[in-house]
Amino acid sequence: MTKQTKQAPSRGVLFDRDGTLIVNVPYNGLPDRVVPMPGARALVSTLRAHGFKLGVVSNQSGIARGLLTRDAVAAVNDRVDRLLGPFDVWKHCPHIEEDGCACRKPKPGMILDAASNLGLNPKDVTVVGDIGADVEAARAAGARGILVPTAETLREEAESAEEVATDLHEVLALLLGEYQHPAPDSEGREFQDAGRKRVAP
Ligand SMILES: [Mg+2]
Ligand SMILES: [Zn+2]
Repeated sequence: MTKQTKQAPSRGVLFDRDGTLIVNVPYNGLPDRVVPMPGARALVSTLRAHGFKLGVVSNQSGIARGLLTRDAVAAVNDRVDRLLGPFDVWKHCPHIEEDGCACRKPKPGMILDAASNLGLNPKDVTVVGDIGADVEAARAAGARGILVPTAETLREEAESAEEVATDLHEVLALLLGEYQHPAPDSEGREFQDAGRKRVAP
């Protein structure tokens, strides 16, 4: 039985990798350390069953920083693909901000490329991520962005996001059009960002 929805579902979903699909381990190059986030498996399998095309868009500046090899990133991606895939498209940015590339989020390059590879207009794509750069990249690409805050998320990132979901279960509800979640108001939730330093992904 299909539920009537006001809003046609997006047809593509692009996920940030670290802190969104899998638990964030900064600059991880070890496949054994890949652990799916709670709800990730159910989310991707349900979306596939609904006909969504799925992809991953990930900043991997550890490559430019000399902390990760491209092979190590590929090995971790393979592990993610085995646990949560198969994904229809994979994009990663190996650069640091100073490289001035077009792909590093919050730039929209990876989202535009991935949408093109999927044969989708960016407006039919939703980007799901855990930090401001993910949803800013979505906005810059003309895609929908949903922020799923973690302990790494800064309060101002959550406050400026157009859509915020508590967890991946809520992302599913948003994507299936079951309800619209308002952006957090001035009395928005508390995030565990006080004094935290985040390493640049
Ligand atoms: Mg992330
Ligand atoms: Zn790049």
